[in-house]
Amino acid sequence: MYLSNPTNTLAVINKHEFVFQKKYGQNFLIDEGIVEKIVREAGVTKEDFVLEIGPGIGTMTQLLCEQAREVAAVEIDTKLIPILSETLENYDNVTIINEDILKVDIAKLAQEKNDGRPIKVVANLPYYITTPIIMGLFESHVPIDSITVMVQKEVADRMQVGPGTKDYGALSLAVQYYSKPQVVINVPPECFIPRPNVGSAVIRLEKHATCPVEVEDERLMFKIIRASFNQRRKTLSNGLNNSPEINFSKEQINAAIEELGRGASIRGEALTLEEFAKLSNIFSNIK
Ligand code: SAM
Repeated sequence: MYLSNPTNTLAVINKHEFVFQKKYGQNFLIDEGIVEKIVREAGVTKEDFVLEIGPGIGTMTQLLCEQAREVAAVEIDTKLIPILSETLENYDNVTIINEDILKVDIAKLAQEKNDGRPIKVVANLPYYITTPIIMGLFESHVPIDSITVMVQKEVADRMQVGPGTKDYGALSLAVQYYSKPQVVINVPPECFIPRPNVGSAVIRLEKHATCPVEVEDERLMFKIIRASFNQRRKTLSNGLNNSPEINFSKEQINAAIEELGRGASIRGEALTLEEFAKLSNIFSNIK
């Protein structure tokens, strides 16, 4: 029985007397068209190993099992595990892992299940941990082909924008350093049960084969980026000088900004990814 409609979803929920947990960001999809479209946009084929984060009652998992070679679904809520065993009983290519995704060694999972080859990540994410999940996937250098996920609309916007907009920030730069983001579907609250009180969007992040800029020290670049956006209304120079993560003198900071070719009053939010990379490389070369 496919679950992606309100009647079937409610039947499963009532049968198991399941109670939605707000703390886990539980908003289940009840729109068949949207579920199908997410899986289609993810480009899943019979070659693929797919990691699904937060399967819920298994609505999208069913479709993923049909399209993929193998699926691993990581679900934190123990109450959902017996439900998933039942809704996925017809599929022998799925492993359900009852864990917090932030504690799972995904690189190890990719090694075991996919011989270390790039995996696809597909999810209707729990919104309260969107950023740590995405950053964890990128920064831990798990082999990834693409990440296709439902997120809060506003967060999808932040991932896509460039300098000069209010949404531009550390998340935009990190996502664009590692991948090419593209919003593929806008999803209204009526497509979920219970309805979230924010708009949602599915974003596809296609991992770059090679990063678009050359950075000598990635960690330093991200420290600089964080310092620049921590104090938005300050100049870049003050932002870097006030950051406990950056240990260069005021003179070194000003000289680096000058070498970058930007005036002393420039703000961090005006810099492009290329400029952050260049600035970081200038700092890396200070003896
Ligand atoms: N995929 C289902 C769907 O679309 O109907 C459910 C999506 S719901 C937005 C998010 C799911 O993530 C819930 O099932 C929730 O229990 C699970 N979840 C929340 N926090 C989690 C965590 N830290 N690790 C793994 N799963 C988590």
